[in-house]
Amino acid sequence: VRKQRLLVVANRLPLSAVRTGEDSWSLKISAGGVVSALLGVHEYEARWIGWAGLNVPDEVGQRSLTQALAEKKCIPVFLDEETIHRYYNGYCNHILWPLIHYLGLPQEDCLATTHSFQSQFAAYKKANQMFADVVNKHYEEGDIVWVHDFHLMFLPKYLKDCNNNMKVGWFHHSPFPSSEIYRTLPTRSELLRSVLAADLVGFHTYDFARHFVSSCTRILEVEGTPDGVEDQGKLTRVAVYPIGIDPDRFIRALELPQVKDHIIDFKEIFAGRKVILGVDRLDTIKGIPQKFLAFEKFLEENPVWRDKVVLVQIAVPTRTEVPEYQKLTSKVHEIVGWINGRFGTLTTVPIHHLDQSIDFHALCALYAVTDVALVTSIRDGMNLVSYEFVACQALKKGVLILSEFAGAAQSLGAGAILVNPWNVTEVAESIAYALSMPADEREKRHCHNFKYVTTHTSQKWAETFVSEFSDTIVEAQLRT
Ligand code: UDP
Repeated sequence: VRKQRLLVVANRLPLSAVRTGEDSWSLKISAGGVVSALLGVHEYEARWIGWAGLNVPDEVGQRSLTQALAEKKCIPVFLDEETIHRYYNGYCNHILWPLIHYLGLPQEDCLATTHSFQSQFAAYKKANQMFADVVNKHYEEGDIVWVHDFHLMFLPKYLKDCNNNMKVGWFHHSPFPSSEIYRTLPTRSELLRSVLAADLVGFHTYDFARHFVSSCTRILEVEGTPDGVEDQGKLTRVAVYPIGIDPDRFIRALELPQVKDHIIDFKEIFAGRKVILGVDRLDTIKGIPQKFLAFEKFLEENPVWRDKVVLVQIAVPTRTEVPEYQKLTSKVHEIVGWINGRFGTLTTVPIHHLDQSIDFHALCALYAVTDVALVTSIRDGMNLVSYEFVACQALKKGVLILSEFAGAAQSLGAGAILVNPWNVTEVAESIAYALSMPADEREKRHCHNFKYVTTHTSQKWAETFVSEFSDTIVEAQLRT
């Protein structure tokens, strides 16, 4: 029997491509949440549609890359440099990303902003149209189309305009902010209307879904129902599907010799010290300066801990060409230097800060030797790092300190210590509490989280979304 096809459309394909010759390519799969989720869904035959992450201006390159990607079940959308600049760097990363994370719209020179805003919005629509063209070209009757994230809010509308029978789901991986923030966006109505063209709209948490529905009812004056949003008889279902991880991938990794070797090394390096760990992209939303200031406060208040603890911060570089991110990097370095200068000794420093990503095996080992994971995002769609940490802690049963502003706080709240990252005193006290938490309490909290992480997997997430998506379509057909 032929399996049902699932077209997964996201800004980025789940692999990175490097050109090795005029018509030859090296492709490397990048294992993110959505990729591992869909690898586990066997009832559907998935095809990926998205941008390969680089500009390929020539025809030979485009043709050969398309061929190479086809073997990996991927279909490229080719975006030229100008479009990438305005659509991706501009509208997505400069306007939508800060807005949905409650940082507001950019407030530079108003005239320049208005002009660039309009051209960026035009590029956003154009890029969405380019994605739609590729989807239309590859669509076969009966396919399910699953669109991902805020980069592609126009796609549901563009696809339905072309073919109203197409089944389109849209999933938002970031926070959806309160309507009071969202309504500042000049293009607020068009974006909402386009998303509402989808049959099913999904979010990670109940709050995000509620914010989306109230933005629709307040801005578009449509009707919010317990099932979603209704406009002139058409229902768009809105529902909550919290993503998870593939916990076995981490649990299995801990058995590998190379990971065990890393664990031995780390134990030796950090001997006599408790390890506090942060793993974040170096992004404003991750609250890294807030984390360091809280750690400084903790060291200030707890002199006995000063030579018995280390904070290891993996700060993965991201959007390095953007000035705000460069400023954040300098600010973070300044704070680290200040704290290490203040509390370091001739042979040790309290903060071990890396501006690098680390490989998967080292990351698993680091999760496993950690005593306290510290997640202080000021806003975060979910935060998978907190799940990964929990998956690697079966032996150690370490403590998770988790920002209440991360989506994960909704699921790991009972096992973690929840904090407001802006409250430096509260975070400092939580660090002290976590470090000296009695073993039975640690075990209880860990078990709670471990059970959640190992039962709410990414695979289940994808299965649930796709199966409810199919049900939604059947229900809609029954209604008409
Ligand atoms: N990660 C990585 N390399 C590193 C450190 C982290 O690939 O050096 C991964 C990490 O395992 C996790 C992801 O990056 O799966 C971060 O996901 P999260 O949801 O925490 O935050 P996001 O970066 O998506 O905002």
